[in-house]
Amino acid sequence: MIEIKGIRKSFGSLEVLKGIDLTISKGEVVSIVGPSGAGKTTLLQIIGTLDKPDTGSVYIDGIDVTRLSQRKLSDFRNRNIGFVFQFHQLLPEFTALENIIIPAYIAGTPKKAARQRAEELLQFMGLSDRAHHKPAELSGGEKQRVAVARALVNSPAVILADEPSGSLDSKNKAELHQLFFDLRAQYGQTFVIVTHDEGLANITDRTIHMRDGLLELSTLGSTGEGDDITDVLHTGDEQDESLESQSEAGVRA
Ligand code: ADP
Ligand code: MG
Repeated sequence: MIEIKGIRKSFGSLEVLKGIDLTISKGEVVSIVGPSGAGKTTLLQIIGTLDKPDTGSVYIDGIDVTRLSQRKLSDFRNRNIGFVFQFHQLLPEFTALENIIIPAYIAGTPKKAARQRAEELLQFMGLSDRAHHKPAELSGGEKQRVAVARALVNSPAVILADEPSGSLDSKNKAELHQLFFDLRAQYGQTFVIVTHDEGLANITDRTIHMRDGLLELSTLGSTGEGDDITDVLHTGDEQDESLESQSEAGVRA
């Protein structure tokens, strides 16, 4: 699903990523942890095609996204990747429903289908009664769930989240984390989540530790205690099935 090979990135004389290799399976929920300044956000932005590495490749579903032209890239990103940031970044002048719909319009989804999809996601998030509220009228947890719905509207295969629960209290945090797993079960998405939250890191399929621009070797090659490759493969199979049932149910952006 995602294959990262030999990624290096410098900002001026500061080498931020020093050779990153990582493979993430379809339907896997992976957390990336590490001290501030380790390069986590930079890596996530490169996986998400928002930034380019100096050297190395990022394959998403077999496509080397580092080689796509700028124009193809924005289309690829809009269709295949959903972002959730620490702060929701919703547009203040639009309602929850409108915020969710906008990326679908940009992808060229017909209005009626886009609205239907946005309403379905609002319902899934338990936010149907907040559809016509603007961000300022929503709680922190509600705003973050709207931001997740917006990330999902085009049914991207990959969701990238950068400290998504960093601004939430513990109850909303737990709910948001549960939501990621519910979404994986329902839609089969792959999640890469940068987090400081140990509770979240503990429940993901795999935790990648990052330090000084490198992945810590001890965390690679093993998917964690009691976990082996067959579990990972099994997870992949389940996700393929749920993706199929998703399209059978006619759920589409
Ligand atoms: P993390 O998310 O792990 O805290 P970042 O990837 O945000 O780390 O940053 C890694 C290092 O790269 C930091 O020292 C940061 O200051 C630097 N950095 C990040 N983005 C830029 C940029 N656009 N220009 C210059 N330096 C940057
Ligand atoms: Mg960061």
